[in-house]
Parts: sequence; C-alpha cells; structure tokens
Amino acid sequence: MLIFELSSKGRSASAQYEECESVEDIPEIYLRNKPTGLPEVSELQVIRHFTNLSKKNFSIDGQFYPLGSCTMKYNPRGAHQAARIHGFLNRHPLTAENKSQGFLACMFELQEYLKDLTGMQAVSLTPMAGAQGELAGVAMIKSYHEKNGDPNRSEILIPTAAHGTNPATAVMCGYKVREVGVTKDGDVDLDQLKNTVGPATAGFMMTNPSTCGVFERQIQGIADVVHNAGGLLYYDGANLNAILGTVRPGDMGFDVMHMNLHKTFATPHGGGGPGAGPVGVGEKLAPFIPTPVVGKDNNGDFRWIDEQDLPNSIGHLSTFMGNAGILLRAYAYARMLGFEGMQRVGKYATLNANYMAKRLTQAGFRLAYPKRRPTHEFIISLSDEAKDLGVTAMDFAKRLLDYGYHAPTTYFPLLVPECLLIEPTETETREEIDGFVDAMAAILEEARRTPELVRTAPHTLPVKRLDDVRAARDLDLVYVG
Ligand SMILES: *Cc1c(COP(=O)(O)O)cnc(C)c1O
Repeated sequence: MLIFELSSKGRSASAQYEECESVEDIPEIYLRNKPTGLPEVSELQVIRHFTNLSKKNFSIDGQFYPLGSCTMKYNPRGAHQAARIHGFLNRHPLTAENKSQGFLACMFELQEYLKDLTGMQAVSLTPMAGAQGELAGVAMIKSYHEKNGDPNRSEILIPTAAHGTNPATAVMCGYKVREVGVTKDGDVDLDQLKNTVGPATAGFMMTNPSTCGVFERQIQGIADVVHNAGGLLYYDGANLNAILGTVRPGDMGFDVMHMNLHKTFATPHGGGGPGAGPVGVGEKLAPFIPTPVVGKDNNGDFRWIDEQDLPNSIGHLSTFMGNAGILLRAYAYARMLGFEGMQRVGKYATLNANYMAKRLTQAGFRLAYPKRRPTHEFIISLSDEAKDLGVTAMDFAKRLLDYGYHAPTTYFPLLVPECLLIEPTETETREEIDGFVDAMAAILEEARRTPELVRTAPHTLPVKRLDDVRAARDLDLVYVG
C-alpha cells in the first residue's frame, strides 16, 4: 500500500512540528501556488508504514547476503556509534581548521592507514563511491599523460572479467575501451595483453583477486608489460577484502586505485549510497590527486590541502571533502581492528569462501575454476543444470529468497555462463554458511524432482518474479491522487 492511500484530509503529525520561518523574503516566483499534495497521516501511521516496508527488504542485518564482489559484511554498531559522537554530527563542513582539529586528525590518520594497507604514496578521501573513485583515477591517468607531453594515448585496456563501471569510467574520461581476454583458468591472457598494448595505451584497469575469484598469478608480468608500453596500472579495489593486510596493490605494481570503504571497511552500502571510494596513488600520480586532502604542519596542526598547494590536482569531486559520516565509520573500524585485525579479515574471508566452495562441490555443484583455490569469493556455474534440468542460475537465485537467503551475484562476470558469484565474508558463522549450503542442496534436489517449483520462485515473498527491464525502462515514481 502507498502512504498516499492512507491519507485522510486534515490529519497530521504535529508532535514534532517546528514553527516555519517566514516566507516573506522569498521572491514571489519561487513560491508554490498549489498545495504540495503530500499525504496527510498521523505520526504512528508514518512509523508503521516505513517499518513494515523495511521488513519486506532483505538486508545484512536481517539475512545472509553473499553478494559476490559487493562484500556485504556486518557493519559494526561500535563504528556507527563513534561516527555519531555529538561533535562529529554537529560539525559544520565550513568550521575553521583550528576548531576542527579532532575531525581533521581522524581523516589524516585514515589517509595514513589506507596508505599503509595499500602501499600507495598518497590518498584522497573525497570520492563518494567506487565508481567515482574510478573516475578520479582515470582522470588522473589522463592528466599524467597530458602533463608528460604524451596526450595521444587514447585507449584504456580492460579484461573481459571486469565490472561494468570500469569501461563506463574509461568512456566517461574520453577513452576508447579495448578488451583483453581471460584464460580458462581465470588469469588475464598475458600473450593477448602483450599484443594489445602499444603507444595508444593510457592504462590497464583490473582487480586482483579478479572477479573470477582467483588471484592473478602473473601480476608482475602484467605490470611490466603495461609499464614498458608507457601505460599505467589501475587497481579496482572492490576485492581488497581478500588480501587485506597480506598483499598490497602498491607492491604488485599498481599506480592508482580506489577503495570501496562500504565493502572492505564495513560501512553501510545503502541503496546505491551513501558510500565512500577513496583513491590512492603512487609517486607518479601524487600531484594530481583530488582535493581537498588533510595535511599536517610541522607544528602538528592539521589543515586542508587544496588547489593552492596542489596546482595539478584534478580538482574537487564532491562538495567539501566527501562522505564524512562514512569516512568516520571506516576510521573507527580500522581503529577497532588494528593491523592484526585487518589481517584476520582477509584470512577469515578466504577461509569461509574456501570452506563453502568445498561444501558446495560436495553437494554436487561445479566450480567455474576448479583448478584454482578460491579467494574471498568464488564462482559456481549452473550451465549443466540449465541444460539438463531447464533450471537456470536466476531460478536458483530466486528460490534462495524463499529459503531466507539473499541471492549471490548472478550472471557476473559475464564470461561464465549461468554464473553465481558467491562471497560469504568473514563475519558469518559456520552455521550460517552450512545453512546456505543446505538450502542450495535442497534447491538442487527440487530442480531434479519438481523443476517448475524452482522456475516460478519466489513463492513466499510479497512480490513474485518482476520484469526488471520494465521496472527500469518504465519507472513510475509519481503518485497521481
Ligand atoms: C562494487 C564494484 C565497483 C563499483 O563500486 P561502487 O562503490 O558500487 O561504485 C567496481 N568494481 C567492482 C569489481 C565492484 O565490485
């Protein structure tokens, strides 16, 4: 039911009503001449409406959520609490530096932690999501080549396993995208890369471990090939969780990267936001990082570093300095875990994924890369089930919802047919992982005996199969009473 349908003329939620300021100063043309058409409901009706709506959603606080590549892990309440300290919450973004030393110290230290964990030389916290971090990263690559008197590099290379944001970013920065294949064991095809790089190569964007859920074994060879061609190497940090505290992108030869704090650093994802996608860069790109960043003077005072100090910066990406509330949560998370805790994150995430992969194969599922050890996530392919039983990866995903589990990532990466990309994360118990495997085994049995039941799932949710293309193309958000 829509909240508009609860509306009753003259009813209002007035307990928290604040006296409206006078509208006298607002020019006539900006004043509305019709009522707003908002629903007229009581405070309790509002609370019930939205609480009940929220219960219809799957969420990390409600269900196991093994959405590969997205790292849907527990958001520790202690980090929320720390970010909600009165002084942080009420600090205006324009507060003078000398009255913001505590906040600036947190941001400075967060920059330092991220540098330590990634092996990068400089970090800017301002991008608001991984995708925006990518935009910043590729914009820096572009500035670098331009400043180097080498502006004709027109191509960004991307492996076929890449996330859609990678090619989208390259195109937004004015580059042509060229794809590089992946071998049947999940590695970048090094020979093909050698044949594709050249004087037009501006950079190569990749993740490691890759979205195939395996660690790229030839990463040093890849870095050499790209660098020898004069290109730069971009690290998509979405999979940083797997290697946290063990391997650093900077040491692997990457020149620039983003970090998805809402993935690796356990901050909330929200519905496409709020997020934070800081960028880290090596020496070559340090002059170009987006501003502002936080610096520390010789006398120990923290201050904003802006374009006066960094004249070659690609500039601002967000108002003020990024998503302060999310950055504070990531800072608190890092402080709570410490370096050893960070190392445990990567190790337990990997252990959980390997345990689950093993149990799923025992239950009759097929790994896409059976010769490789999974990292923090892994792919099963349901192409046999689709062929023999007529039950697809999407059918499994929908049926899992009936069992109370959020589905894994489906049909990504595109190169594996009938693909489920599964990421349990380090914050789940063995019982939860076992429960998921049991549900998958039960669905496999259903697919054999009563395939129609799986094909028509979900059966227990408020909405059944949706036409998601129509939902996107025909989006209708306007209520006409
Ligand atoms: C999530 C993700 C991104 C994009 O990050 P956002 O924070 O969602 O913008 C990029 N690449 C990969 C591999 C991802 O999983």
